[in-house]
Amino acid sequence: MALLPLSARGLFVRSAFRRQRPSDAGWPSKEAWSRLNDAVGGNLLPVDFPITACASGAGSAECKKVFETLRNPYYIGDQPGMTQTLGWIDAWATKPSVYAVAARNAHDIAEAVNFARKNDLRLVVKGGGHSYQGTSNAPDSLLIWTRHMNDIAMHTAFVPQGCERMLQPQPAVTLGAGTIWMQAYDAVTTKGGKYVQGGGCMTVGVAGLIQSGGFGSHSKHYGTAAGSLLEAEVVTADGQIRTANACTNPDLFWALKGGGGGSYGVVSKLTLRTHDLPEFFGAANFTVKAASDDSYRRLLREFVSFYQERLFNDHWGEQAHVNPDNTLVISMVFQGLDTEQAKQVWQPFLDWVGRSPHDYSIEGRLVIASVPARDWWDVQWWKEHWPELAFPNTSSLNALLDYALVHLVHQPVLDFDNRPGAGPNNAWWKGDGGQVGWFIWGFESLWLPASLLESSAQERLADALFASSRHTGVELHFNKGLAGAPRDAIARASDTATNPAVLIAFALAIAVDAQGSAYPGIPGHEPSVVEGRKAAERVDLGMSQLRALVPDPGAYVSESNYFEKGWQQAYWGSNHPRLAKLKGKFDPDGLFFVHNGVGSEQWSTDGFTKL
Ligand SMILES: Cc1cc2nc3c(=O)[nH]c(=O)nc-3n(C[C@H](O)[C@H](O)[C@H](O)COP(=O)(O)OP(=O)(O)OC[C@H]3O[C@@H](n4cnc5c(N)ncnc54)[C@H](O)[C@@H]3O)c2cc1C
Repeated sequence: MALLPLSARGLFVRSAFRRQRPSDAGWPSKEAWSRLNDAVGGNLLPVDFPITACASGAGSAECKKVFETLRNPYYIGDQPGMTQTLGWIDAWATKPSVYAVAARNAHDIAEAVNFARKNDLRLVVKGGGHSYQGTSNAPDSLLIWTRHMNDIAMHTAFVPQGCERMLQPQPAVTLGAGTIWMQAYDAVTTKGGKYVQGGGCMTVGVAGLIQSGGFGSHSKHYGTAAGSLLEAEVVTADGQIRTANACTNPDLFWALKGGGGGSYGVVSKLTLRTHDLPEFFGAANFTVKAASDDSYRRLLREFVSFYQERLFNDHWGEQAHVNPDNTLVISMVFQGLDTEQAKQVWQPFLDWVGRSPHDYSIEGRLVIASVPARDWWDVQWWKEHWPELAFPNTSSLNALLDYALVHLVHQPVLDFDNRPGAGPNNAWWKGDGGQVGWFIWGFESLWLPASLLESSAQERLADALFASSRHTGVELHFNKGLAGAPRDAIARASDTATNPAVLIAFALAIAVDAQGSAYPGIPGHEPSVVEGRKAAERVDLGMSQLRALVPDPGAYVSESNYFEKGWQQAYWGSNHPRLAKLKGKFDPDGLFFVHNGVGSEQWSTDGFTKL
């Protein structure tokens, strides 16, 4: 009996399904491509790869220009053949698609989806191009590029379609899928006087972020970006343009809220809840250096306890960095406090630091101050307020603090797109600049449960942070864990596909190492493979110290290890089985493939061959 199924299976052995490449006989003819071009209003483009300018020599003027412009995220975003991360050691290096549909609307997207499905093509979707995992590029593929779909409409009383009897009208904004967050913040906050929960990095795309779950500096107050989604227009694998919201296609709606980009369909527009603005947003930036390992350990214990007591609430987001050189870098952002209130929050910690001048010093500038919330993303406002001033030459903590309070606005916080004709709002936070065009060596993340802040656990947490920092720098992103958030923000996030670990986490720990712009095969710009592998090991060793504290380690799908073990559980926890079922429902043949996306186990790593 045991032989029967085996031999029966043998009878039906077929060659595996494989998607077409340009070298295959089944690749669409010129005429077929031309028909697609007509169907999308002439917006089918052959895709350039700017790095080919280096083929004639890395020292050529063209090649130098390319590597210079690779520091500008707006330049990269404008290239259908480029991505914001250039690659990852032993994982991937960015490659252009053969053709791109520069989509204008859902109909163009549907044409591209139908064409890819009917011709067995590898399909890729790109918005802002910020995937660390390389999920918005693939060689030999057709790209749907949403860059130009950036219409924005504000609503005072939005009701999702079909929800007229269920939901109250609410203020909202509808964003084309190719909108980047800076465009959204300009429309919603600077011009509209409201708040929308998006990403911290201004050049991230809205559709990619929402499908990641999505955190911004103030997520500790407003919740995840996905939690604010009210409605999406989405083209599914069958080419249908669907509305997804709490009342119409609610299961697809749920999967889009954190189920991972590029897995369930192509989103063409999104409507997000907007919120009232607080009076102030602000920042606390300074670095404390410890004189010895022992004093650093004490500093970390003090900071963990101080965080739990004074910062573990919905005012405070962004980061503290625990570094191998015994520095603690505070790079936090707050909402709803004025400068004086924020200073009072930090005073006890600064006093503690100041009491031990032999053990601790403040390195560089110390800034704790707020600005009017409506001006936070107003490029003009920052330009008018920040003529650089000389910093006082003093080691007196109070003098530094008083100076900083007055002069926060003199910090040069933005960088600009200086290309001729660039939009006036094409700016990005300096703090995100290091990631533009980089090549990753190692990247891991871990949600840290709030139970680690209980007084009985604080020492264990601080000591584990110290142990991690002997291998690698660890960033604590407080805004990427929702413990401490208001109840309604947590409730909205719990109705998304994001790993429920986020709901009880006080922070997401991230360890990352990378080099600047590099690309395989370009002399002088080669990725440093040996150094990169060592760095990846250090990242892993460092994160293992923290992972040992967490029973069910969870990682943030969009900011995690390319080589994540057990990624289904790590990214989505108990939500994965439902996501897998919905993948079968909306994309049974796996048209939408991304690395470590739901259902990707059924495909070869390049997404071409069905296993
Ligand atoms: C410098 C930098 C800073 C970041 N900062 C933050 C942050 O502050 N908070 C945070 O939460 N995350 C952050 N991220 C992670 C980021 O949110 C995710 O990588 C996100 O998916 C990027 O979206 P994108 O559109 O820019 O990228 P893309 O690479 O274009 O897309 C990402 C994924 O979404 C898919 N996708 C894109 N558009 C669509 C669409 N219209 N329909 C269906 N699928 C689509 C793509 O196929 C791809 O799989 C950051 C990443 C970088 C590189």
